[in-house]
Amino acid sequence: MFFCLLCHGLTHPKQDLCHSCRQDLPWNQHHCERCGEPWPTPFQGLCQPCVSEEPYFDQCFAPFRYGFPIDQLILQGKGGKRAELLFALGRLLADALLQHRIPLPDAIIPVPLHPHKQQKRGYNQAGVLAQVVGRTLAVPVRHDLLLKIREPGDQKSLSRGGRQHNIQRAFRVQRSPLKTCTPPLRHIVLLDDVITTGSTINQLAKQLRSSGVERVDGWALARAAKQIYNQPSSPL
Ligand SMILES: [Zn+2]
Ligand SMILES: [Zn+2]
Repeated sequence: MFFCLLCHGLTHPKQDLCHSCRQDLPWNQHHCERCGEPWPTPFQGLCQPCVSEEPYFDQCFAPFRYGFPIDQLILQGKGGKRAELLFALGRLLADALLQHRIPLPDAIIPVPLHPHKQQKRGYNQAGVLAQVVGRTLAVPVRHDLLLKIREPGDQKSLSRGGRQHNIQRAFRVQRSPLKTCTPPLRHIVLLDDVITTGSTINQLAKQLRSSGVERVDGWALARAAKQIYNQPSSPL
């Protein structure tokens, strides 16, 4: 017998959610083609920030908007109360990547936690998601190429430039192991549980590209939406 994670009703074997709960999820249906920012209405093209300042990443993919009940599942999964939820969420992400035929990279790098935080929590939620996705898609997961060396602190009150500077100081790309990979890692995906502003993925993409990686994408379960939607600059 298999039971739905959300409504506890019967579900198909090997399915984590029943059909109706799956349909009710906050799918990120309309979004910027580059950064994945959710859009309230059907829309093709790029959002204003992606037009005015081209990001360093090629594409961010997140199958869900950060909203109920995905937000609750993620919080429970990373809070340690129901860590097994991360496996179900990883399977949902892998299914969505396959369904949308998202280009597969040479390696997946989960966005790391600071070692102190990881030790306290016992695991990195992005690392667990990456393991599930990597296994399903047969893509290697590398935990050794990116380190978090300090916490960037509260980012909310900072300007965009200030945020970028803080993120840059918070992470370190391990250049020598990256450059000696055989075959070389030309295309890397950074995987996180949630992409909020995209600043972290963008800054890490910049660092990886300056270390010789040709293409960097971001994958996450969910993408936060801005409170106020800007008007599309140039629908294609
Ligand atoms: Zn259900
Ligand atoms: Zn965008």
